[in-house]
Amino acid sequence: MIPYGRQDISQEDIDAVTEVLRSDFLTQGPAVPRFEAAICAATRAKHAVASNSATSSLHVACLALGLGEGDLLWTVPNTFVASANVGLYCGADVDFVDTTADTYLMDANALEAKLTAAAAAGRLPKVIIPVHFAGQSCDMKRIGALARAHGVKVVEDASHAIGARYLDAPVGDCAHSDICVFSFHPVKIVTTAEGGCATTQDDELAYRMGLFRSHGITRDADRMRFESDGGWYYEQLELGLNYRMTELQAALGVSQMTRLDTFVARRNELARRYDEILADLPLTRPAQNPDAYSAYHLYPIQVEDRARVFGELREDGIGVNVHYIPVHLQPYYRDRGFKPGDFPRAESYYDHAISIPLYAGLTEADQDRVVAALSAAL
Ligand SMILES: *Cc1c(COP(=O)(O)O)cnc(C)c1O
Repeated sequence: MIPYGRQDISQEDIDAVTEVLRSDFLTQGPAVPRFEAAICAATRAKHAVASNSATSSLHVACLALGLGEGDLLWTVPNTFVASANVGLYCGADVDFVDTTADTYLMDANALEAKLTAAAAAGRLPKVIIPVHFAGQSCDMKRIGALARAHGVKVVEDASHAIGARYLDAPVGDCAHSDICVFSFHPVKIVTTAEGGCATTQDDELAYRMGLFRSHGITRDADRMRFESDGGWYYEQLELGLNYRMTELQAALGVSQMTRLDTFVARRNELARRYDEILADLPLTRPAQNPDAYSAYHLYPIQVEDRARVFGELREDGIGVNVHYIPVHLQPYYRDRGFKPGDFPRAESYYDHAISIPLYAGLTEADQDRVVAALSAAL
């Protein structure tokens, strides 16, 4: 079976992890700050706060922005459930903005109309989470400007997009957002097994995300409410969580990050090759915004008879997948009032979607096998 995504683990990665096992620190040691420094270097962010998953990072991002009961969070339906769930974790309500028909990313026109209506109704969201689906940045210049004009905070869900660029700058520099979040799950671009990281240019947001990541506890005397009377003293200032990344994960991440550019370049090379060899088949290839350089986490195609094509590819040993079942159609969200027809473009995209294999270790021979199977099925 050729999987749709797969990690790339080198001998250096293995050595980096085993070195941690022989060291003094399995958690809360020097590797996590080193990993955070590598993320800052790659994204040009001032701060990076690593955690045990992107879901955790999205959650601490929302907590740091003060999202809570009575507030509203908006994201897109074409995403993994976590982008929406983090709003519910904070006690906020969740709503969605439809995606575009060609890039499957948050539609800035739909966002503009929805913000205007929400402002008139006095029910603006506190936070919006655009998602850089498949590794391609959303139209962040416009989304950021619209959000700013309404006093809305922006968290980029860049789970698919470490190493991607937008308007010649790295995704994660937060030029048009407050916080940007990456995932390091094994199917993503770079892995720490499980792991996430939030970047920001804002000192206070970085401090608050760090606080929520580790029980709401500080050991920083400048932040304490009472006098510190000794080296043992710490204060809990917020109801935080234990979302810490381990040293093993961080060491793997530091080692992986040295190959970030190679991974993304290879994914782009394979995507260009798919563009060429799929050009004559009856399917729709993913559209690229000229302002964006995608990290190509996914290569989502649209086909007429999705269920049949999906089944035949799986039978041929091609590990295709579908990204994503629109979040608002999940039973949990239907129970909260959403229904088919609410976000027609995300639904129509989903009805025809298949993600075909794409990862740095995919060979051209593998790719030819995928295309042959696809060609036969179509
Ligand atoms: C993978 C993913 C997440 C969650 O990442 P974890 O690190 O597994 O928590 C969130 N949003 C999107 C868009 C993802 O693809």
